[in-house]
Amino acid sequence: MSLIQAERVTRPQGSTRSVAVTGLVATVILVATALLTYVLTAQLGTVPWNSAAAVTWALLAVLLVVGELQPLVVIRRDGTSEPLTVSTTFALSLVLVAPLSLALVAQTAAVVVDDLWRRRSLLRAAFNLSQYVITLVAARAVYALASGHPFLAPGDGFASEDLLPALLAALTFLVSNNGLVALVVALDENLDPLRLLAADLRSQALTSAILLGLAPVAAVLSEFSPLMLLLLALPLAGVQRSAWIAARRQHEALHDSLTGLPNRELFRLRAERAVAGTTGGRSSTAVMLLDLDHFKEVNDTLGHHVGDGLLRQVAERLTDDLAGEVTVARLGGDEFAVLVPTVRDVHEAVGIANGVSDLLREPVVADGVRLGVNASIGVAVCPDHADNVDTLLQRADIALYDAKDSRGEVRAYRPETDQHTVQRLSLFGDLHAAVDADEFEMYYQPQVRSGTGIVATVEALMRWRHPVRGMVPPDVFIPLAENTGLIAPMTRAALRTSLRTLAGLRTTGHDIGIAVNISARLLSDLELPGWIAGALLDAEVPPTRLTIEVTESTLAADPKRAMRVLQELREIGVRLSVDDFGTGYSSLSYLQRLQPDEVKVDRSFVTSLRSDENNAVIVRSTIELGHGLGLSVVAEGVEDAATFRTLTALGCDLVQGYFVARPMPADALAGWLTAASAHGWPGRSEAIPRAPAVPAPRQVRA
Ligand code: C2E
Ligand code: CA
Ligand code: CA
Repeated sequence: MSLIQAERVTRPQGSTRSVAVTGLVATVILVATALLTYVLTAQLGTVPWNSAAAVTWALLAVLLVVGELQPLVVIRRDGTSEPLTVSTTFALSLVLVAPLSLALVAQTAAVVVDDLWRRRSLLRAAFNLSQYVITLVAARAVYALASGHPFLAPGDGFASEDLLPALLAALTFLVSNNGLVALVVALDENLDPLRLLAADLRSQALTSAILLGLAPVAAVLSEFSPLMLLLLALPLAGVQRSAWIAARRQHEALHDSLTGLPNRELFRLRAERAVAGTTGGRSSTAVMLLDLDHFKEVNDTLGHHVGDGLLRQVAERLTDDLAGEVTVARLGGDEFAVLVPTVRDVHEAVGIANGVSDLLREPVVADGVRLGVNASIGVAVCPDHADNVDTLLQRADIALYDAKDSRGEVRAYRPETDQHTVQRLSLFGDLHAAVDADEFEMYYQPQVRSGTGIVATVEALMRWRHPVRGMVPPDVFIPLAENTGLIAPMTRAALRTSLRTLAGLRTTGHDIGIAVNISARLLSDLELPGWIAGALLDAEVPPTRLTIEVTESTLAADPKRAMRVLQELREIGVRLSVDDFGTGYSSLSYLQRLQPDEVKVDRSFVTSLRSDENNAVIVRSTIELGHGLGLSVVAEGVEDAATFRTLTALGCDLVQGYFVARPMPADALAGWLTAASAHGWPGRSEAIPRAPAVPAPRQVRA
């Protein structure tokens, strides 16, 4: 019947519980045992069972036990919940009208039944029981003193002048019952017991007042006729129902509806509690922010139901793995947060985060689609990185930015990256203006045939000339643009400019193609193929001269919409290239279905091709795989002649990289192409020292 069950007294942390807590619990149990023994021996045999009131007492006792088994759940402000039971009303009315021994026996029975039912530990049951015994005895003592009724024996009825003493008894009941638990919890968690008690009382003041206020009513009613007691069931059911509704509302306000996880607000509340607990200095509290890489692509190309399924599964995995006192929350979108209230230090926190990252790497199946999930995780620890929740979250966010940079890694907060992030956030604001002011330019980087050295294509790469910061690299602003939706107008502008450049080059005799990068986000736009067809017509460029580069991660899943868009583009005659091949999860079957014209081996493998045996194997097998599927293979990131020669020997079709040429603006490209077609590009002789002489093209005379 306790107003607060000793929910937190027997946490699984038993080993670290201090001597003070153990002492207090033991004292409570000892005092209660003594009181119980005294009352029972003093009153045994003197209870007037044959009196008319005995039926009423028995009925109150039964209602007490039944009420105990039907707890209400009251949610506290910090989101932790506590059961509150209507048995309170009957316990207090027994205190007012029955022999004290009977009140104690009925309460004991209720606790034993309830704790057995819920399989609580013995220590916890003993503490619960003891706390009630003390509370009931105290309430009865106050009532007896204030009203003049006897302490042990039943009083002779309940009259109107007993009302004030009854309210005093109710107050005693409330304070004693909550106070004992608050004291133990406060000692255990190093908090101020009075503040804790005040918070407890505040969060359940109204419900408690109603329950306790009904006790004198029950006493009066039972005086009148025991049957009238049953009428009390109605208001009690009302209390129970409104408490239930309030608890549900409270739950909804603090939880995410999609995954059922705590939301940002509840996460904050718990973080605040945890941070307050670490101010003692012995342990740390860790906050991890977690962001799924490529979630936007999944959502845009596969649809929201797949995205939702993915989020639910991630939530499930996280909660299954991180048990105990850890809070896993969804902050919104694809952002999750994990709170670990006690860790030794940053290293332990990073270790836990690495575990989470590994756990998520295992592909999930959402809506029948197998998806690879990569998460970037930023970690910040109190007190090392911050001493309050706001700063802690901000620092974890900065660490997350840092982690995203390195694609799917775990990073702890480092003050050095702060500067960088501030810069990026301000760029975010500048991006809109940049689109309006047309601050973007296209650079072009040639791709040459490995055997002949002939320029086949140029890749169009976007540049942002920021009025204050100068050149901003695309690795920084493209992800920002993808997040804001600005990427669509930017890509269209890039395509138009690139096609215009190509048309110009073609009129001066350079019959080459152009490759343009398209973000996954655009592939969910069913109007894209039509738009591109129009742009090709406008520029008078044959569709076969345009290659669309899409990254592997876009295709890894089964993007129905993206597949459709890409299929239509192929039907127009546009070429399709799979960029950054080897970094994602594409499977052979997707490649077969998509039927691209080309794969581009990611430059991370190519650049270290000659120094890293693993990368050499990856490059070789990608070339074989590509050729097996009838695709052309491009290696990007070729920085020296030796790598170029190795790739030529491996049969790689096209080569792109600083060794051939760096990306350059359109006018420089025109000059470079003219020079290259006359004498070969600058490093060519170095790349193919003993190239067979190429016969000069025969001049055809008219
Ligand atoms: P990407 O599509 O993989 O482009 C190749 C990147 O490798 C380019 O970087 C290029 O300058 C760089 N690169 C070329 N050769 C070498 C080399 O030998 N060594 C090294 N270390 N790097 C080399 P860039 O221009 O900074 O572009 C970075 C990424 O930004 C691109 O990677 C692409 O994902 C994205 N991007 C660039 N322009 C656009 C665009 O117009 N639209 C979209 N959606 N993304 C773009
Ligand atoms: Ca590319
Ligand atoms: Ca690439």
